[in-house]
This record gives sequence, C-alpha cells and structure tokens, in this order.
Amino acid sequence: MHEYSVASEMIHALLPKAETIDGRIVAVILKKGEMRILSDQALANAFELLAQGTVLENARLVVELVSVRVSCPACGYEGAVDHVSDDAFHFAVPILSCPTCQSEVDMKAGRELYVDSLTVQTPSEAEQA
Ligand SMILES: [Zn+2]
Repeated sequence: MHEYSVASEMIHALLPKAETIDGRIVAVILKKGEMRILSDQALANAFELLAQGTVLENARLVVELVSVRVSCPACGYEGAVDHVSDDAFHFAVPILSCPTCQSEVDMKAGRELYVDSLTVQTPSEAEQA
C-alpha cells in the first residue's frame, strides 16, 4: 500500500526533529496536493501504526489538502482549474488544461506532500488541561 510507505518515510524524516522537542506532540499537519492520490484515512491508519513506540505515538495526523493551481503560458491565466467527477476515484479530479483557452498549463501547486507543522503541548499546558 502506497500510503504505508509514505507514512513510513514521513515518520523517519520527522523523528530526529521530534525527539528534540520538549513537550508532547499532539498533531502532525501534513500538506497534501490534490494530485496526490492518497487516502487520508489510510495515511492516518498507517501513521498511527508506525508511530507506536516513538515520540509520535500520541500524535494525530491531520491532512490538509492543497488545491491545484496552474499558470497558462498561452493566455496568462493563473489560478484554479476545473474539476470532473470520476466514479473510479470517488472524488473530483482536476482537469489539467487552461479553463479559459484549453491550452496545456504549468502546474504551480497540487503535487505537494510535506509536513507543514507539528502541534506540541508543553508540560505546563498539559497540567492546565
Ligand atoms: Zn490559457
């Protein structure tokens, strides 16, 4: 399963930094481009499984979707693209051509996959909670 290897790489990349953090990591914010065909639920499940026994084991994976944005070399359009519903994927698939002139476009956003931030609960905050 692709989500499993993505989660595994993510945790390996995060751990050296996470282990230096003073406090409890309660959430990992992942930015996921719309073009990344990954199940949020499968990612969260894989993360939970792989984080067991590490400093990330109490953290929740929060996936934030990054919409596709393009620029069109032909007419200068910049912005979002149209979507088409695709039953095979069960969600709206971005159409990668210019919404105004139908030319081929350069993708400016939508392929992201990176950890944006960590939510940390410091020991004093935990006492108040
Ligand atoms: Zn165009």
